[in-house]
Amino acid sequence: MSILVVGSVAFDAIETPSGTRDRCLGGAATYFALAASYFTPVRVIAVVGEDFGPAEESVLTLRGIDTRGIEHVPGKSFFWSGSYMKNLNEAQTLNTELNVFQSFSPKIPPGYDDSEYLFLANIDPLLQADVRAKMPKVKMVCGDTMNYWIRDHADNLARVLRNLDALLINDGEAKMLAGENNLVRAAHKILSMGPKALVVKHGEYGATSFFGDTTFPDHAQRTPFRAPALPLAEVVDPTGAGDSFAGGFFGYIASQPRLTPAVFRRAMFYGGVMGSFAVERFGTERLQQLDRKEIEDRFALFRQLSHLD
Ligand code: AMP
Repeated sequence: MSILVVGSVAFDAIETPSGTRDRCLGGAATYFALAASYFTPVRVIAVVGEDFGPAEESVLTLRGIDTRGIEHVPGKSFFWSGSYMKNLNEAQTLNTELNVFQSFSPKIPPGYDDSEYLFLANIDPLLQADVRAKMPKVKMVCGDTMNYWIRDHADNLARVLRNLDALLINDGEAKMLAGENNLVRAAHKILSMGPKALVVKHGEYGATSFFGDTTFPDHAQRTPFRAPALPLAEVVDPTGAGDSFAGGFFGYIASQPRLTPAVFRRAMFYGGVMGSFAVERFGTERLQQLDRKEIEDRFALFRQLSHLD
């Protein structure tokens, strides 16, 4: 089943202990779409400038991603630069230039409106809400955000949160959003803001899901669940790990006939699998050339990592 994603399609400048890149294709929607494309058809809504050419677009189309919803306008694409020199688990933003995203008014191309799954990747919550409103028939909506939007766009973000089936967010951002330093208390506070479920990403330490009262019928099915991350000898570039997690997570859910607690848990593992691939090379490099066998082999490794008897 098709996933429609709206979010940033960008150019990034990145520095990590393994090296630097002045300009590579990035953006939350880009990483999400690439990761999800190994599980299910993906359609993208975004805007790019004149600097985004056929070479960039082919990174997506070669994975079968439908890019008809990427609008091309005069000006420069979204640009972000970040550093991981202080902390590999959390980007330090050096510069954010919204550029063409500043005056973007999303349009849903013909043929996109039968998408059953909607992912509101990291971007201005006003744009997330706009696309959500234009897709009233979707079956499941998940979303992401980051400190940039939590800090200065809290009211708009609150409107987005009210209508989410699941919010996927970093632990630092979860604590910031809730104004609470304890993870469990922060999770409960966020669930009271609207999302039916919450997936908190802990970078190299995995991810934890929390459930509101309406996600699954039995109380026991709503117990928090912790999925591991793969211990890696070298993390080359953490950029996009969170979006790739979301792509694996939601892509797997969309590929299944219905959402059960077991599907949700396996989706958390597939999220970790796709995040672990993303960080092995700079930018989107690794996500462009995977195959399903590599993904399943790593899934088996994740299973082993946390299997008890
Ligand atoms: P992450 O998965 O959190 O590492 O996401 C990294 C991607 O998010 C980068 O490729 C950036 O282009 C993109 N990004 C950074 N800041 C923002 C922002 N304020 N809004 C939307 N996208 C962003």
